Amino acid sequence: MHTFKGWLLDLLFPRLCLGCEISLSDNNESHVCSACLAGIKMKNDFACAFCNSPVVAGTTCPFCRADHFLDRLFVATSYENPLVQKIIKTMKYRFVRSLADDMAGLMARYLERRFSLGFNIDRGSTVVVPVPLHRRRLNWRGFNQAEIIGNGISSYLKLNFQNLLVRIRNHVPQAQISDRQSRIANATGISKCMEPELVQGKTILLVDDVATTGSTLDDCARALKAAGAKEVIGFVFARGTFASDKKLLQRSEK
Ligand SMILES: [Zn+2]
Ligand SMILES: [Zn+2]
Repeated sequence: MHTFKGWLLDLLFPRLCLGCEISLSDNNESHVCSACLAGIKMKNDFACAFCNSPVVAGTTCPFCRADHFLDRLFVATSYENPLVQKIIKTMKYRFVRSLADDMAGLMARYLERRFSLGFNIDRGSTVVVPVPLHRRRLNWRGFNQAEIIGNGISSYLKLNFQNLLVRIRNHVPQAQISDRQSRIANATGISKCMEPELVQGKTILLVDDVATTGSTLDDCARALKAAGAKEVIGFVFARGTFASDKKLLQRSEK
């Protein structure tokens, strides 16, 4: 529904689609037109979350399995797509909630496609869990995008949603650390599962907007496994190269 304030804002700052730049003023809060949303290609290939080697259906490769906790990583769209980058950046820096909803819709579309191609989860024992944001950053941004995305995915796909993880200390933003090894160490031991009884024996769909080195997802997976989760599947909207991740992080985590 359009409020007077919304109407006035649209008049002063017309909202244009991030993809094709048509005016979206009639279309509630959205920032991408439905044609551009529908045109975003879903990813079809899979790579190990940690070493990037090609794998079947996103599983962590046998070599990385030895010292990681995440079982699988699904990446819905390609970061090479300029519209995907615009959606992520605009959502992060301008705090646009509707874009997190759009991401959820696209990610639900991706999972439905996986289901139709034979990947199956037991819906009754699957829980969607968002990657937590530290309280200080939550206050600064006003919302945890992973929570909005996770909530959206769970309602699209009728899956159970639980916001169960917390950050137990504010780690140094990854972008301030240059080498990969220290970045991995920096993210170790920062997440905690608040209600282990809700994850015991469950398959967890661990949701975030973007993945960087995979270390944050892996630390959440560690906490969830420690709480008794059977399997942890990371699920992100997009995953960039290390270089583009770094740029993205530098701007978003300051
Ligand atoms: Zn458009
Ligand atoms: Zn690997």
